[in-house]
Amino acid sequence: MPALEQVECLAQSYPDLPVEVIFKEDLLRRGMAWSGDALEVAANYKRKAYFIFSFDMVPISGMDQGENTRAPEEVRLTGGAFDFKPVIVSVRLNPVSPYCVESDDGALVLKLDGHPIAGVELQHSPAYYARTLANGKPITDIAPTIEWGYLLYLTVFRLCQYFGAQEECRFCDINENYRQQRKAGRPYTSVKSVEEILEALEIIAATDSESKAYTVTGGSITSKLEGKSEIDFYVQYPEAIEKRFPRKWISKVVVQALPRDEVQRLHDAGVQIYHPNYEVWDKNLFETLCAGKARYIGREQWIRRILDAAEVFGPEHVIPNFVAGIEMAGPTGFAAVDEAIASTSEGLDFFMSRGISPRFTTWCPEPLSVLGRDRRGAPLEYHVRLLRAYRDMHAKYSLPAPPGYGNPGLGQAVFSVSSFMDVLPHPSSC
Ligand code: SF4
Repeated sequence: MPALEQVECLAQSYPDLPVEVIFKEDLLRRGMAWSGDALEVAANYKRKAYFIFSFDMVPISGMDQGENTRAPEEVRLTGGAFDFKPVIVSVRLNPVSPYCVESDDGALVLKLDGHPIAGVELQHSPAYYARTLANGKPITDIAPTIEWGYLLYLTVFRLCQYFGAQEECRFCDINENYRQQRKAGRPYTSVKSVEEILEALEIIAATDSESKAYTVTGGSITSKLEGKSEIDFYVQYPEAIEKRFPRKWISKVVVQALPRDEVQRLHDAGVQIYHPNYEVWDKNLFETLCAGKARYIGREQWIRRILDAAEVFGPEHVIPNFVAGIEMAGPTGFAAVDEAIASTSEGLDFFMSRGISPRFTTWCPEPLSVLGRDRRGAPLEYHVRLLRAYRDMHAKYSLPAPPGYGNPGLGQAVFSVSSFMDVLPHPSSC
């Protein structure tokens, strides 16, 4: 079935979901192409910083128009044939996607198989994007922003010590992406020092009023990094940031599920939100797709530590990420949408009934990851039904909107790599 017809069919079948989020999920799972003219326009706006993974559906070597240095971080879709309310979508490059952004006399338009869908707005580069640190590193390497400027994304370790087929998560291209970015000549610091982070934040704090939160994250540390254990390495960043800028931003950390005493250290350092990313609920899939996590920590212990963390932070401040779609990928995934939805819904129920609200990143089948090599994501119907399951479970347990993501609701949400914030009610309608 042609792509537009698929979207329209699902919009008819699930009229309780805004059509904007059906397009958004489709864009996230298929990626988008850019015409040469549109790239010329986009190059004057805030560009893709490759804040952690590639989040592209082709490697840089397959980008004939230099899209990796010219395409924007995100687009805001508005108006058009479907009268879109504003919806922000992360740009995942795919030159053969049926979605293409084109320029019409400088005005950008999103088309699907040649049919105009919505107008495309871009975010201006913040003033600090032109700045460098004293050591010459661009601030876009050290402290880029995503979510339309809301979130400072501090990937302080751009590699992961889960390495190779037996350990690396099969959907993840962190190590391969690091290599391709360096090869392409992008300044891409593998381990950022505390001093570099503070210097970048000084510049941002002096010039910016858009950013409201920061995330400290990076790959897992299974042995030592610069002589430090995982907790010793990661806790030093929020400690230093909160000492220098107490509560200026909402503080978030994405690291593995750590023992309770180590989680307490994050909390004591001033971290407000903890993301011990769970990735996929099904037991077999967790063990297959997250082999390193399963081997070093184990599924049962991972779950127990999430529950322990909820006692330290409060359940609404523990937000494990699920990579939406990997449960239907490759030879090991569920073959039927019903089964995949039932499995992830069981996980949502498990956590939400305890006051913990997971969140999603819609899977981007990155060809540099094992699971993304065939570039086939989950069916759009899966993503649509997952959002409904999330929204309905969230309502069933009367949970608050997840903190640290800005306003929920269509037209308000800024989270760009999944529509989970777009489908929650706007605060004024609660
Ligand atoms: S733990 Fe898994 S998902 Fe996280 S960076 Fe390492 S390989 Fe990637």
